[in-house]
Amino acid sequence: MSSGNITGGCQCGAVRYFLSKAPNMVYTCHCSNCRRASSSAFNVSCLVAAESFNLEQGQLARIVWMVGNNIKRYGEFCGDCGVRIRHGSDPNDGIYAVRGGTLDDQKYAQPVAHIWLSSAAGWFIPPADDLCFETQPDNNSDIEALYKKRFGDLA
Ligand SMILES: [Zn+2]
Ligand SMILES: [Zn+2]
Repeated sequence: MSSGNITGGCQCGAVRYFLSKAPNMVYTCHCSNCRRASSSAFNVSCLVAAESFNLEQGQLARIVWMVGNNIKRYGEFCGDCGVRIRHGSDPNDGIYAVRGGTLDDQKYAQPVAHIWLSSAAGWFIPPADDLCFETQPDNNSDIEALYKKRFGDLA
């Protein structure tokens, strides 16, 4: 049952999911990994509490890679159409990064920050009032605070 929840899905319709809570924050990532994974110039990442993500229909296939010492990062996607749905970590850190473009209502996928701008496409100009980071921010607290300020009423 998804009425009142935030719904999303893949391109072919095989995968459908809902979030029981709005994202904690949304940012774009311009690193080369996210560019390839999104088949685009950057990725829109909506960070959500893992327990708020509910797979309603379909199955997620998985690609795994290592980031540093014994931490696995994985991307999960529709095995039929290949659309990336979410990223997570193993060991689990309690957060999924849901791909913003898969949300039905794009008001939940409005970024307030832009990371890895050192590898961004030359034509990308971040909005003046957003937070900008050349690489990975030390932590997400400023991004989360700005997201709450702008979009906290969506929660
Ligand atoms: Zn699909
Ligand atoms: Zn990235």
